Amino acid sequence: MKSLRITIKMSFWPNGYRCCVFLSFDYDSSSATMWRTPLDVVSQSRGRYAPKVAIPRVLDLLDKLDIKATFFTPGWTIDNYPDSVEEIRSRGHEIGGHGYAHERMTEISYEAEESVFERMMVSMERIGVKPQGYRAPYWLVSDRTIMHLKRLGFKYSSNFMDDDMPYMLKYRGEETGLVELPVEWILDDWPQFDTERRSPAEVYEIWKPEFEGLYELGRYFCLTCHPQAIGRISRLKMLEKLLSEMQEKKDVWFATGAEIADWVKKKLT
Ligand SMILES: [Zn+2]
Repeated sequence: MKSLRITIKMSFWPNGYRCCVFLSFDYDSSSATMWRTPLDVVSQSRGRYAPKVAIPRVLDLLDKLDIKATFFTPGWTIDNYPDSVEEIRSRGHEIGGHGYAHERMTEISYEAEESVFERMMVSMERIGVKPQGYRAPYWLVSDRTIMHLKRLGFKYSSNFMDDDMPYMLKYRGEETGLVELPVEWILDDWPQFDTERRSPAEVYEIWKPEFEGLYELGRYFCLTCHPQAIGRISRLKMLEKLLSEMQEKKDVWFATGAEIADWVKKKLT
């Protein structure tokens, strides 16, 4: 059988990097459970594991590997754990938007969605952040969401699943001026660990070949993690192994969402 050999003629990425890794965290804390299951105090306690235990561990790992990530953070998390969010910023990571209380944008009215964006922006302003990227909770984008992102001056969205390279986002046939940093459920720790209850070894066996394939093709690998899920020590060890192996390639560009969006816009427009 012939082996598949792919040669990259010219890299899309800056400085001769062969492929790009976008490491992202959705810092939900208890924002979703506070209103979806208000009487379930144990579920809510699991959200608190993020600021209390997981975020410090994740930040130490990122420092150790010298990787900068993007933390999509609901306004509720900012308002309730401002010191934790400040720590993330002070260690050089990006804060992106993620709703206010982790709302399902496809299930709320036009007025309610507008008010969610306003509340989210007020929380961001309070800590001096002008978010450049937005990821919708549950990846539920309503028919109005893109209009709000344009109105509020966002540079990129990280929500759609139709590519494994970033691209300039068109919505209903119209240019939006936004860069799209696409995502995928298989590269999200939540369904892997929480829905499917897979072991770290099993998840590694899914993520590693996906990365190797995209690396070979010179494309883009976006990992979505939730501190309260990935922050368990066995899973974090698996993440460290995966990221270290990526770094051993020496030509992988680890960048924040804002850095990737700036580069993609420069290349494609
Ligand atoms: Zn979320």
